[in-house]
Amino acid sequence: MNRIPVPGILKDLSRTFTEAGYRVYLVGGAVRDIYLCRAAGDWDVATDAPPESVMRLFRRVIPTGIAHGTVTIHHKGAMIECTTFRTETGYSDGRRPDSVAYAATIEEDLSRRDFTMNAIAVSLPDGEVVDPFNGRGDIKAGLIKTVGNAEERFGEDGLRPLRAVRFSAQLDFRLDDRTKDAIRPALGVTALVAKERVRDELSKLLRSPVPSTGLRIMEETGLLDLLLPELAACRGVEQKGLHRFDVLDHLYLACDACPQNSLELRLAGLFHDIGKPETRVTDEHGIHSFHHHEVASAKIAEKVLNRLRYPQKTVRTVAHLVAQHMFHYEPNWSDAAVRRFIVRVGKESIPALFDLRRADGWAISGVRGEPLHLSEFGERIDGVLARDHAFSLKDLAVNGNDLIRSGIPAGPETGMVLKELFEAVLDDPELNDRNRLMEIARAFYNRITGLGTAVARE
Ligand code: ATP
Ligand code: MG
Repeated sequence: MNRIPVPGILKDLSRTFTEAGYRVYLVGGAVRDIYLCRAAGDWDVATDAPPESVMRLFRRVIPTGIAHGTVTIHHKGAMIECTTFRTETGYSDGRRPDSVAYAATIEEDLSRRDFTMNAIAVSLPDGEVVDPFNGRGDIKAGLIKTVGNAEERFGEDGLRPLRAVRFSAQLDFRLDDRTKDAIRPALGVTALVAKERVRDELSKLLRSPVPSTGLRIMEETGLLDLLLPELAACRGVEQKGLHRFDVLDHLYLACDACPQNSLELRLAGLFHDIGKPETRVTDEHGIHSFHHHEVASAKIAEKVLNRLRYPQKTVRTVAHLVAQHMFHYEPNWSDAAVRRFIVRVGKESIPALFDLRRADGWAISGVRGEPLHLSEFGERIDGVLARDHAFSLKDLAVNGNDLIRSGIPAGPETGMVLKELFEAVLDDPELNDRNRLMEIARAFYNRITGLGTAVARE
């Protein structure tokens, strides 16, 4: 098939180019996705029109990357990235081309692209396919192969090895042997890549159906040692009891088992036991223990995520989930204990923490199943949340001003009294009543100040 049907919107857009005497092609991921029968993420087109001309041809064009010859065309509700045919010269820092020169033909433009599957163009509006590197054959074979010499291409841009790994997990494709072998010699170049770009690739990898496919290639090729050495250190760290896997395989499995739609959970799954190597103690019978490994793991997760420039909200959420993942519920817990758990973990984090626990359980044995008592614990939490309403100081029936008006001096004392009231309400939610709390407040204040006499009543 050397011609493919072209979506109406692209036909329409291309007429503006052809009427002005220019050529335009659909390129990049959208073409690949057509052959994979996947919904295209975004439209990229390539043209021989210089960016200034493209800006004149359409009413709404944003110069999003004009230095690289890229503008974004807003056309009938769609946003189309349009790049003038390029050839790139020199990558002395392994990050970005030193200069961008325009190319005369689509073939030359395709030759600077990373993988054969990403180097297919579709001429618009006629749908004629230009595929000089047999990208279609590789897509059919499920193969990721660089355009041209793999070592050279990875040597030019150290992000490409990571893109290869990410695509392999996203598409369930294999890396061509020469492409895979070229990753290790290029690690020095990958080391120079901006952390934000590494982060974006890692996030895409973690949001793929089975991230461990890519993580194992990272391990095999040295990318894991380079970018996530704390994770690589978990290889060969054996565990105890029910654990079937070493720490790293356990982390891979937990990451896979976390819901695909939550990057934070996938990160938490991947890092939840990352502190095990440094906390492991082996007794005289050869039994390992990992005391407080969740605290060490949360610290390491925070360090790694900060190094990769993840937003603070992501860092905090992941570290919190990791720090709390060792909770242990018993059916004989009192309601007060359930309420204290809710306060410690935070209402909004509980569903994610339960997902993490399920993933952790699965990754211990390799068998899916509901962890012991977990659904019962969930029901108890739901019951308590539906019945009781005081899960933070703000929810108390009195506030600091009420205490001050009753004669308790403003300052640390009010804080202490409020905390005491909160503890009392956690033990017995019935106490969350203005009069009863004021009584407890007065008694507690008198006790801590040793006054023995009642503070002035309101
Ligand atoms: P997706 O958007 O689904 O992640 P994509 O293939 O469209 O995949 P983009 O990052 O949008 O990826 O890039 C568009 C195209 O630009 C690619 O298909 C490829 O042809 C080219 N490309 C992107 N990054 C590089 C790179 N680092 N080196 C060479 N070519 C690249
Ligand atoms: Mg794209």
